[in-house]
Amino acid sequence: MLERWFHGKISRERAESLLHPKEDGLFLVRESTNFPGDYTLCVCYEEKVEHYRVKYKESHLTIDDEEFFENLAQLVEHYEQDADGLCTQLTKALPKQGKQEFCVNTKDFIDNGWVISMQDLELCETIGKGEFGDVLLGKLRGETVAVKMLKDNSSAAQKFLAEASLMTSLRHENLVELLGLVLNAKHILLVTEFMAKGSLVDYLRSRGRQHVTPKHQIHFALDTCSGMEYLESRKVVHRDLAARNVLISEESVAKVADFGLAREETYSLDCGKLPIKWTAPEALKNWTFSNKSDMWSFGILLWEIYSFGRVPYPRIPLADVVKHVEKGYQMEAPEGCPPEVYEMMRQAWSLSPELRPTFRQLKAKLLTFMLNSLQ
Ligand code: ADP
Ligand code: MG
Repeated sequence: MLERWFHGKISRERAESLLHPKEDGLFLVRESTNFPGDYTLCVCYEEKVEHYRVKYKESHLTIDDEEFFENLAQLVEHYEQDADGLCTQLTKALPKQGKQEFCVNTKDFIDNGWVISMQDLELCETIGKGEFGDVLLGKLRGETVAVKMLKDNSSAAQKFLAEASLMTSLRHENLVELLGLVLNAKHILLVTEFMAKGSLVDYLRSRGRQHVTPKHQIHFALDTCSGMEYLESRKVVHRDLAARNVLISEESVAKVADFGLAREETYSLDCGKLPIKWTAPEALKNWTFSNKSDMWSFGILLWEIYSFGRVPYPRIPLADVVKHVEKGYQMEAPEGCPPEVYEMMRQAWSLSPELRPTFRQLKAKLLTFMLNSLQ
């Protein structure tokens, strides 16, 4: 979805000055200014710039009403192979400089029935704070829901929509479910199922040893592992798995939330925002995020569950954590943690990613442990 030739909302004049006296076939795509929701393909040819309107018609994109495409990438690819009626074949993409933009097509959300009308949604009190803005309690046609609100900020909007677009393609009982979005001029709202018992980390901290039983602990671990096994099967990497991003439902089912960072390779991560204590060493070092780096984070999450929500690496200053971990330092078992579970943590923290189990393998181990220990 992230394409170098996509320049977002730039004017016709700006497109011309970017492309001007350059070679034939140099091109970019921008959002149409005259027809919101449509796009414009701008191509250099004989010292001029041609602008082709890319219309959105019956869920497809077309320039000439003859060839139809499912997305911009397909359209570009087609005209790279053959001019097919354009002034020239596309030969070279003009990459957007500076910050990349996602070209998330809001029409996809509309066509697939994800858009909720503000009239159907009632907003109530604030229940949390997110990176993009507040999380509110809401009512959608009588059902209690959570509403993530986006601050008025268009660069965040793209990230926010990218998270939503990923969520529309994922569905599992251990992933927080997206119910829909509100898209209008003033705001973007992301509506998800309401998780009455809040985040796992708050749950563990507030209830502590007195109330969180070994049965709860193993269930939370298994639920989270099942959600992650599903992501693994879909080849989606979460990148921000931690107890703060697992939410607990009224029925005490744990579900993985917060897919804000779960993007393909193209996502440009902001170093400063990386959760150091949860991130695998190879991911911190070479940016190699994978289902195996998620497994590392899952090991930390297990540690959080069995320490009732303590902050990992309790006695080590944040700045020194990486140094220790790279040398093979591992946290000790939390007090009272079953040795079988500690062994699972240690495997998840193998320095070499290949030695870590898959979520599928770990789920089988957790299940066996549960059946043997809680009779
Ligand atoms: P961010 O994108 O900043 O990570 P989160 O999705 O983690 O935001 O949400 C921030 C907080 O809001 C959570 O820790 C939780 O307390 C609350 N929250 C988020 N989603 C829900 C939900 N579906 N149900 C209940 N509380 C939620
Ligand atoms: Mg979060």
